[in-house]
Amino acid sequence: MRQFTLSILVVLVYVSASADERPAQTIVITTKPRFEQRGQFVDLVISDTNHSLDISWWMPPDKQFGPVLLDTNRVYTFTVVQKPFYSISIPKLCKVQSGSQTIYDIEVCEIHKTKMEYKEVEIAYGLVRRGPNGPSRDIERRLFPNHREYSLGGCGKTPDDPKTDWIYVCSDCRNAYEKWKLEQKKTK
Ligand SMILES: [Zn+2]
Repeated sequence: MRQFTLSILVVLVYVSASADERPAQTIVITTKPRFEQRGQFVDLVISDTNHSLDISWWMPPDKQFGPVLLDTNRVYTFTVVQKPFYSISIPKLCKVQSGSQTIYDIEVCEIHKTKMEYKEVEIAYGLVRRGPNGPSRDIERRLFPNHREYSLGGCGKTPDDPKTDWIYVCSDCRNAYEKWKLEQKKTK
């Protein structure tokens, strides 16, 4: 009986370990940034003797560049977290420092400069349409880029796809979004 209990325990430990709970890895690279064209996409490539990371920087049709302006002649310190996702690891840029100055921090809202809340949210799959009275991408980016409390999961959904994700949400962005919605109603 003892043997039996033990083997159940082993199976349980194995199952929970295989459910992609591998820890994220933090990598710090000090280098000049490079940009490389990958088909229609542009990647930021940062490398040192131990690592070479590709971070997607520009994606059609949005024509939006990465979260911070980088000079390819300058040396920056990049902090990247590599999160396991099925069999691959996706690098996520978390911080960029230029000398002693932090020029980008994933936890800080780029518009309000306030520290954001790290929240577990639902993933919306499929084509998420903008409502007829919703803000344009441009307005969203300029006034409240971090107001959403859901994450976009791409087109298809299979039963194995994760249901929730962790994202940063800015309370000032949420207030700005509510204010914007009220103003839209008034002008109608
Ligand atoms: Zn904000």
